[in-house]
Amino acid sequence: MGHHQQPADGASRRRFLAGAGGALLALPLVGAAGPASATRPGRAGPRLPGGLFSLGVASGDPIPGGVVLWTRLAPDPLAGGGMPPADVPVRWEVADDEDFRRVVRAGWATASPGFAHSVHVDVRHLRPDARYFYRFRVGDQVSPVGRTRTAPAPGRGDRLRFLFASCQNWQDGFWPAWAFAPQDDPDLVVHLGDYIYEGGANAAAVRQHNSAEITTLDAYRNRYGLYKGDPALQAIHAACPWVVTWDDHEVENNYAGLIPQVPAEAPGFAARRAAAYQAWWEHQPVRLPPPTGPDLRIYRAVNWGRLARFHVLDTRQYRGDQACGTNDIGPTCGERTAAGRTLLGAEQEAWLGRSLRKSGATWDVLANQIVMTAMPFGGPIFNMDQWDGYADARARFFDQLTAAGTGNPVVITGDIHAAGVGDLVGENSDGTPSTEVRGTELVGTSISSGFPSDLVDVAEQLIGALPHVRWVDARHRGYVRCDVDRDRLLASYQQAQSVLQPDAPVTTGRTWAVEAGVLGPQEA
Ligand code: FE
Ligand code: CA
Repeated sequence: MGHHQQPADGASRRRFLAGAGGALLALPLVGAAGPASATRPGRAGPRLPGGLFSLGVASGDPIPGGVVLWTRLAPDPLAGGGMPPADVPVRWEVADDEDFRRVVRAGWATASPGFAHSVHVDVRHLRPDARYFYRFRVGDQVSPVGRTRTAPAPGRGDRLRFLFASCQNWQDGFWPAWAFAPQDDPDLVVHLGDYIYEGGANAAAVRQHNSAEITTLDAYRNRYGLYKGDPALQAIHAACPWVVTWDDHEVENNYAGLIPQVPAEAPGFAARRAAAYQAWWEHQPVRLPPPTGPDLRIYRAVNWGRLARFHVLDTRQYRGDQACGTNDIGPTCGERTAAGRTLLGAEQEAWLGRSLRKSGATWDVLANQIVMTAMPFGGPIFNMDQWDGYADARARFFDQLTAAGTGNPVVITGDIHAAGVGDLVGENSDGTPSTEVRGTELVGTSISSGFPSDLVDVAEQLIGALPHVRWVDARHRGYVRCDVDRDRLLASYQQAQSVLQPDAPVTTGRTWAVEAGVLGPQEA
């Protein structure tokens, strides 16, 4: 570790020191940002290679007066980053205009080798519901300019356009959906997980992973380096703030808590999860303290004034093991519906109850990973990895909605690489879907991850036959654009024609409306 560069501005430095214990001094997470008068640190940093900003910029977790800005200094992102093992001061600027004539906030952050020279700046004292531009600088190297925005103040906010997406397996194709997404001019992108995939390189893939299956911190970092090098992904990150959660492939397919997919992998899995969570934190624009071990609390609420509250869930870290001897699709058994099974863990579940009760928003959006609505496959066959495998946890969630008086719950979901729209329902005691509608579930498809082509027809038939499912489409990759106001949430399924070309056309498939005060979607 090199020397620590503190902000030279006295007020910011005191605030920084006051807000962090001695052990935290090296953290790049800067607290409340100081005024625009911060000056350059006294000592020059080490000599650095060119191409520091190869992974672009990002912002996220907007609040009424602030947003988190992110970058990572990585001149050699596929091989450890390419930085010297020293702290590096990074200048950041936020401006009203794209040419940075009117800089409204600026300061210094520290990029430390312990966190892969990533930078997370929690900018405060911005105006609510306002657009800004931001950039970073190290020496004479300047980052691309990002555009971001703050959330509306409490009690305000009548409009929101957000996109939600998941599942961007590099090896399954390019990302024309992301290339198109800036044209939708979203206020926010919500990513529901499978941002990276952990698998090894496959020579037959559309484009290859950079290594064998990843299990170490270096390998997870290099995998993020590969994914975040994609220009389409960089462009949509630079277009607006993101709210990011994770699914399983950020660590390993279908892991459950500290239980890996394959029992033989149990030794060392806690260390693997710690590495994966740290690399995730290093590469996402999140307002979260950095991880210090195998655990990382990421569930949180994001408010969009009085219009919407996003309850951002983590359905992987705290879940009990998948039921009935499989972490995939299989016949039911008593364990699946056993009382007390947990998907969210006790603490997150209690937090979610409070978060729902405290919400005064018109729309309560559950940023969720796995399908929540009942989804039996032709008989007592279920996907044990979904909420179906944790039936009592789903029933308790519905009780929480009732207790909170949640009027307009909308669950947004990733994971299955197929689009689906339906009523949110639980199940009867015989395992058949209930007819009691609890809300709406919108399942996005994948950005690029494939659905097995030999299963497309049968999956669409079986799922489409369920009485509470309005639509299912396993053929298209893309994302969902949601236009929200006080009366209606309109979900447009944006579909890429192909993932074999990075610039394949993207068009709107079907559009669904959820009216405020009405449970369940209707075709618009
Ligand atoms: Fe996936
Ligand atoms: Ca999985």
